[in-house]
Amino acid sequence: MLSATDRYQRLCQRINAAAIRYGRDPGDVQLVAVSKRQPIDAIRQVADCGQYQFGENYLQEAEAKITALAPRSLEWHFIGQLQSNKTRQAAALFDWVHSVDRVKIAQRLNDQRPASAAPLNICIEVNISGEPGKGGIMPAAVPDFIDSIGDLARIKVRGLMALPAPAADFERQRRAFRRVFSVFTAVEHPAFDTLSMGTSNDFEAAIAEGSTMVRIGTAVFGPRP
Ligand SMILES: *Cc1c(COP(=O)(O)O)cnc(C)c1O
Repeated sequence: MLSATDRYQRLCQRINAAAIRYGRDPGDVQLVAVSKRQPIDAIRQVADCGQYQFGENYLQEAEAKITALAPRSLEWHFIGQLQSNKTRQAAALFDWVHSVDRVKIAQRLNDQRPASAAPLNICIEVNISGEPGKGGIMPAAVPDFIDSIGDLARIKVRGLMALPAPAADFERQRRAFRRVFSVFTAVEHPAFDTLSMGTSNDFEAAIAEGSTMVRIGTAVFGPRP
């Protein structure tokens, strides 16, 4: 079995190699280590390797981890589905929320962001595969969505997030990410600098198509317990 350090270093090498292969600057691709369902000790091990951005999906679980690891000043990204009765907790705990797909959620995060904290970074989730019942807004709705949340000073719209339907074939993976990239580049917004896409199974295709932030769990931590 690989040690956490070995696994982490191999993954970082793969991310770097993919960036170079597709003509990207490796410094433009950040890694969010998705630690959902992983114990605090596993997060500590990965943080000891120098990783500081972590992603969580479940608020209650995240709160315990974020509290326990507070002295390390890690950066926490909420990537799960967010219900409106949980926005207060999310706005207090996290530095980023990647899964904003309703104006009401954005408004609540804005209103509930603690005054002592910097504005909350958010990504708008786009449903790129058109899967019904999945999170995310339709690509055509992105400009209006951005207009509707433009006055909210306590959130900072950083870009788009997408989780395309899983595809085994690399070219198909690339096609889905390419669609997200074209939605991303069509937006004219001064703070737009983040394209959050790519998981353990498809991050190389995502990097090839312009991802600036890959969200990787299994390839960092091993299988979730
Ligand atoms: C769990 C999760 C990931 C990471 O998935 P892995 O396959 O473990 O890399 C990325 N994004 C979202 C939204 C997730 O829920």
